Parts: sequence; C-alpha cells; structure tokens
Amino acid sequence: MKFDLVVVGTGPAGLGVAFAYREARPADSVLLIDRSSLSTGGLCNDCKMNFTYPIGFPLEYWEAPEAERLLVCVREKLQPRILSRNNLGIYATRAQKLGASLLEVQQSHLGTDGGIALARDMKEQLERSGAAFSLGEKALDVREPDQVLVTDRREIRFEKLVIAPGRKGFAFLQKLMDSLGVPYVDNVVDIGLRLETREANYPIVRDYYDPKFHFPQKVRTFCTNSGRAFVVKEKYEAADGGAYFSVNGHAFSQRGQSNGLVNFALLKTVRFTEPLASGQEFARMLGQQAMLMGGGQPLMQRVGDFRLGKRSKKETFNEDLYDFSATLSGCTPGDIALAMPSKILRAIWRSMKLLDTIIPGVLHPSTIMYYPEIKLYGNRPRFIDGSFQARPGIWMVGDGAGTSRGITAAWASGIRAVEGMLGRR
Ligand SMILES: Cc1cc2nc3c(=O)[nH]c(=O)nc-3n(C[C@H](O)[C@H](O)[C@H](O)COP(=O)(O)OP(=O)(O)OC[C@H]3O[C@@H](n4cnc5c(N)ncnc54)[C@H](O)[C@@H]3O)c2cc1C
Repeated sequence: MKFDLVVVGTGPAGLGVAFAYREARPADSVLLIDRSSLSTGGLCNDCKMNFTYPIGFPLEYWEAPEAERLLVCVREKLQPRILSRNNLGIYATRAQKLGASLLEVQQSHLGTDGGIALARDMKEQLERSGAAFSLGEKALDVREPDQVLVTDRREIRFEKLVIAPGRKGFAFLQKLMDSLGVPYVDNVVDIGLRLETREANYPIVRDYYDPKFHFPQKVRTFCTNSGRAFVVKEKYEAADGGAYFSVNGHAFSQRGQSNGLVNFALLKTVRFTEPLASGQEFARMLGQQAMLMGGGQPLMQRVGDFRLGKRSKKETFNEDLYDFSATLSGCTPGDIALAMPSKILRAIWRSMKLLDTIIPGVLHPSTIMYYPEIKLYGNRPRFIDGSFQARPGIWMVGDGAGTSRGITAAWASGIRAVEGMLGRR
C-alpha cells in the first residue's frame, strides 16, 4: 500500500496539510491517520480561534508577513465569525499605566460542540475530495530508507510524510527524532494556574471573549472561557511512565444556558538553559509533585484562603461566602504556595494583583485557583529548511514539533509545509 502523501494526526496542522495538498495535487493519493477517533486538540475543545499575529505563532519561526499571508488562507477555509470587541479603552489604558498590555485579537468561538461539528465537516470535505482517513490507527515508527510508516495495524509506504501529532504525541515525536537522527533543541514551558470566578467579577468577557493581557515577567492570560464554561483536567505521561494532571478549560457554544462562570489561565513562560537538560522534565516533575500533594488530583484553593496564607479545606468550598461551586469538583483543596516554585508564584500573584486593578473584583475571596496548568511544547526539531522539513521527504509540524501554539498557527504551519514540498517557497 503506497500513498503520495501520508499525514499522521488529524488536528489543524494535519488538516491544513491535507487541504493545501489536495487543492494543489488533486490526482495524488492522500492518507490521514489518527490514533484517536477524531482530532483531539483544541479544534474539539472549546475551539476559539485567533486570527491575529503573533497569537499562536512561535517567534522563532514566524514573522508577521508570512503568518498574515497564511492566516488569510486559514480564514478562507475555516470561515470564522469574528467576535466583536467593545468598550476596551478603559481596560487598555489601566493596563498600560501598570506596565501591562491588552492585545486586541480577532477571535471566533465555536465551543466544544461547534468545534466537533467543524472537525467532522472538514473530514467529510476531505473525503469527498478523495482523501482517505484511518482513525484509531497509531503511528509507531518510520523506516526511512524504505519510506515506510509502521503503525499498530500495518506498514504504509509513502512518497512524502507529514508528522503532526500535537502535544499528546510528544513521546512519539521524540522517539522518531531519535531514531531518524533529527537533532533538536529544548523548548520553553508555560507553568501557571487557572482561575475560576463569577462572570460578574470579570465582566470584560462580555466585550471580549478571550482577553489577552500580557504582564511583566513573561506572564499572560490564556484561554478564557465563559458562558457554559468548565474547568477540566487532562492526563499526561511523565518520563518514568507515571502520570500527572494539568488543568485546562473549555466552554460550550452560546446556544445552551450560561452557568455564569468564567475561567482562564495565568501562565508564566520559562526558558531553561544550561545546565538543565530539559525544561519539560522539570515541568513534568512539578506536575507529579502537585499530584503527590493533591493525593492524585490537581489542587484548588480559594483566593480568600491564599491571601490569608492558609490552605483551603473541603469546608472552604461549602461556606456561604463562597457562593459558587468548583466546576472541576474532583480537585483537592490545598495550598498552592507549597507546590509552586516561588519565583513563578511571585510573578503570577503580582500579575493577579495587576489584573485586579485593571478589572476590580477578579480577586474576590471566592475566586478559585487551580494548579497546575502546564503547557509543554515538545523538543523542537532542527529543520533542514524553512518549510519544517526534518529529513528529506519528512515534515514535522504543529504544536508537537513546536511550529505552533494554537489552532490557526497549526493550520498555517501545515500550509507552509505543503508550499515547501511543492517547491513554492
Ligand atoms: C483541551 C485543549 C483546549 C484547547 N483549546 C484551544 C483553543 O480554544 N484555541 C486554540 O487555538 N488552541 C487550543 N488548544 C491548543 C490546540 O489544540 C493546538 O494548538 C492545536 O490543536 C495544535 O494542532 P496540531 O494539529 O498540531 O495537534 P492536535 O490538534 O493535538 O492534533 C494531533 C493529532 O495527532 C494524533 N496523534 C498523536 N500521536 C499520534 C500517533 N502516534 N499516531 C496517530 N495519531 C497520533 C492525536 O490523536 C491528535 O488528534 C487547546 C488544546 C487543548 C489540549
């Protein structure tokens, strides 16, 4: 069995590759495989899409002209309904006075249900155009000299191969880089926490769905969800085969009834240099440490307790003052200050206070802090050209390979790879 193009991963990076390639070479055979039943990343989790550079575009690889050119193509395909942003002047002015900034980003929001529908529609469009999908099939290895992809079901011969396994595919990508002899560099990590509060305490979301504040010391707000919004936990593998949870958030589309809550992350970007070999290992260990403290669950703490320097307890989440329940109920009430490295905590707490000055109320005693929220970006391959080619005939794109940090940039990465394979760059 041989295909002109095989794509591992049906997230936005893989879909971007498949659409761009089919449009350019309709007669060629294309196969997309995914170990899951459908694209598993943000496309199917809240699906807010950002159409303003540099959101989602790692600056090591992207400059504005190229990102903006490709964002036009991404827009054409995804047909986003850009949300309006209103009444932001006062927040932007306050932020500026405090040494922070509010980025104005063109966004759309489909919600988890809307994103799943979009992913299904994209798959059907590709199938109608003649591309083949194989879901529930896991890529295991590549035999480069034979141009063969080995999966848990079979061996597939390819002319060109794109590996786009996303964040959940780090281990696979790392193994592949080692076996193919692709050199790589360690990436940054984002470490922080997620806040959950009443929408009334963070009313900016009525005017701007996912407000992007940047604070000093490389702290930023990230992934805001409101309407029918929930905090969730995701399981990740640690190097020793153990596991840890990172919290995250999502919301459903605006069709259902709102639960009146908002959640968003505050993340600090950390770049490790020598002598530490792997920032990712460091972050994973923090995740495991939090698991240890939380008895196998993430930690949660009310801001009121945190301010007083005391841990939260189960009772904390029942008292009258605390007038809403945690949407991620399985977390363990505890003391985040014991679990988070102090330099990171200081930077984040300072940012929280700045945010509370910009939007008074967000640090209401009832506001819940969840820890940890960890974003890993995988080791970055050293590419042999600007189209993310890692070995001749093999491209590595998307969040897994560090060429993106969001849906639209992942899709743009896929188009860029195809432009390279067609000699159009
Ligand atoms: C819960 C969550 C919510 C998010 N919300 C947003 C958001 O609202 N907006 C936004 O811009 N970004 C969001 N993101 C980030 C976003 O998902 C990523 O930036 C984007 O999906 C990256 O695209 P990708 O194609 O590189 O990877 P992914 O979308 O992760 O897709 C990779 C695919 O590869 C498959 N795969 C992995 N390993 C293998 C293997 N060995 N064999 C076969 N298949 C494999 C996976 O099953 C997966 O479907 C979110 C991420 C998560 C986890």
